Amino acid sequence: MRSYDVTVFDGPLALNERPTPEPTGEEVLVKITAAGVCHSDIHICEGFYDLGSGKKLNMGERGVKLPLTMGHEIAGEIVSGGPDAGPVKAGEKVVVFPWIGCGKCAVCARGDENLCLQSRFLGIFRGGGYATHVLVPHKRYCLPIGDMDTSVAAPYACSGLTTYGALKKIGAKIYQKEPIVVIGAGGLGLMCLTLMKAMGAHGAIVVDVNPASRDAAMKAGALAAVDPKAPDAVATIRKMTPDGAGAAAVIDLVGAGATVQLGLDVMARGGRVVVVGLMGGEVTVPTPTIPQRAMTLQGSYVGNLEELKELMAIVAKGGVPRVPLIERPLDEADASLNDLRAGKVVGRIVLKP
Ligand SMILES: [Zn+2]
Ligand SMILES: [Zn+2]
Repeated sequence: MRSYDVTVFDGPLALNERPTPEPTGEEVLVKITAAGVCHSDIHICEGFYDLGSGKKLNMGERGVKLPLTMGHEIAGEIVSGGPDAGPVKAGEKVVVFPWIGCGKCAVCARGDENLCLQSRFLGIFRGGGYATHVLVPHKRYCLPIGDMDTSVAAPYACSGLTTYGALKKIGAKIYQKEPIVVIGAGGLGLMCLTLMKAMGAHGAIVVDVNPASRDAAMKAGALAAVDPKAPDAVATIRKMTPDGAGAAAVIDLVGAGATVQLGLDVMARGGRVVVVGLMGGEVTVPTPTIPQRAMTLQGSYVGNLEELKELMAIVAKGGVPRVPLIERPLDEADASLNDLRAGKVVGRIVLKP
């Protein structure tokens, strides 16, 4: 098998060739045919998250061990199962749920493996998708996709699930009746717009600094696209909300200090800002405004296995427009990360071994 690995933080990915592993125990071996390149991969290979004020959350301290094959948006075909895996269908096309927990703690028991403290996330704590093959700990994490194109299916494991999880936190009562604000029109933002369409949402006021991303958002059905650098950005957004009172819900797919602040500035009384992005930074919230504005500042981290099943069922029904996909050979893994880091990518890069 071949993989492109992080061997040193903040260095280029290195090609690693070795014999394809045999699955042991309950493991399932999947031959990868598509792997999405996610913005969080940039933070993982750089080795830290920016916590603001010069503080950093170090990946090594978080338990990331090198060498690491990144890539958590994985789809492919089942090859074989280990001796305890039970029956598996060789050749079956699957999308892989990567947010795997320890399977033993209270959090895992309630189904939120994505929030487990002893996580075994593929592409972060275990080998992932920038490879020809991946070992999945159990077949329940391999969701059959029928005849769906694996390049289409793969990004639902992170960018799809992440935006789906955020929309669920807002609730249909709000997103079906009122405009919501979506900050960031990159891969996640465009994915969010397509899911909103399929979920019967009223629409999104999209915010992005990049004119090309704003154009892409409008083409994907945004109600409006606003440049947050414009001096009247907050007023412009509030004017588009019911009675100009602000948005009942904001999804911040960037997660920088300035974007979370913008979310709080355009939020209505009783509103909610769901922070998804991991760009890094900090905000200062005057504590009296928390009760006075009855605000909810909430984080959302990917989603759980049940949510990915729900999402794939929505996608399988049809009616979810495709996000722009850019298929590139696996050998361009490093170049793809660099292009993403440079802000040159509109849509989702999918690596094809
Ligand atoms: Zn991701
Ligand atoms: Zn657990």
